[in-house]
Amino acid sequence: MLDVRGLHKVYEGQGRRVEAVRDLTFTLAPGELACLVGPSGCGKTTLLKCVGGLLAPTSGEIRLNGERVTGPPPGMAVVFQEYGRSLFPWMRVRDNVGLPLRQKRSLDRARRHELVERSLAAVGLADAGGAYPWQLSGGMQQRVAIARAIAYEPEVLLMDEPFAAVDAQTRADLEDLVRGLWQELGVTILFVTHDIDEAVYLGQRVLVLSGAPTVVREQVKIDLPDGRDQLTTRVLPRFAELRTHVYEQIQAAKRGEETT
Ligand code: ADP
Ligand code: MG
Repeated sequence: MLDVRGLHKVYEGQGRRVEAVRDLTFTLAPGELACLVGPSGCGKTTLLKCVGGLLAPTSGEIRLNGERVTGPPPGMAVVFQEYGRSLFPWMRVRDNVGLPLRQKRSLDRARRHELVERSLAAVGLADAGGAYPWQLSGGMQQRVAIARAIAYEPEVLLMDEPFAAVDAQTRADLEDLVRGLWQELGVTILFVTHDIDEAVYLGQRVLVLSGAPTVVREQVKIDLPDGRDQLTTRVLPRFAELRTHVYEQIQAAKRGEETT
């Protein structure tokens, strides 16, 4: 469904040239939940911006259902790391969530309202529609951003380190929220994180990126049971094996070793 082939991105300007992504190739199957993990500065955000059609690749191509991505594709939604900057402070929560739906001409007012209320309920914020974002905690604001993404009913959901700025307990809750929504909605998710445990806990597959300039170093299938739980899954011997394996790959990537 999502096809990234030979993606290469160089930032140029003001006498500086940064090769952020060297050569990335991978595909996502419909309904898959894949995590992308790699060290800070390795080009994860750059990759997501290219996939989301917000940034033009230097070379290579991205296809969604066979169609080449040249601008933000209709079936895609993005949740960014900085919830504080992604919501409009002068709009109530329900208006923030409903804003992207206004682009969908086929939806009438009643249907938009229904999608907004249903999404807010799905993220546990049924009562917060009338509040302003700044009246909510960080974790709640990130839930609003997630509600906005799912209200749009995307085929593909891109998430860029969405929980990096919330506390550990909230983060655990939000991880389970994402898995729950994924199971319920059947949406395809590409989840980017620098956190190895989070990648292993969430994903069906983990793509390990090398340090910049970036290539996909390895793809690890996560053969943990589907019904995951913060307490029981994280203490499984297999969880420890997988996280150790991914950790070693990232360390080797930082040292610039060739894949074996
Ligand atoms: P990550 O999300 O993995 O931390 P980024 O994709 O944000 O990495 O950045 C990858 C590299 O590209 C970094 O070296 C960063 O400094 C550089 N970079 C990111 N955005 C720009 C930009 N707009 N102009 C120039 N360089 C950039
Ligand atoms: Mg980033």
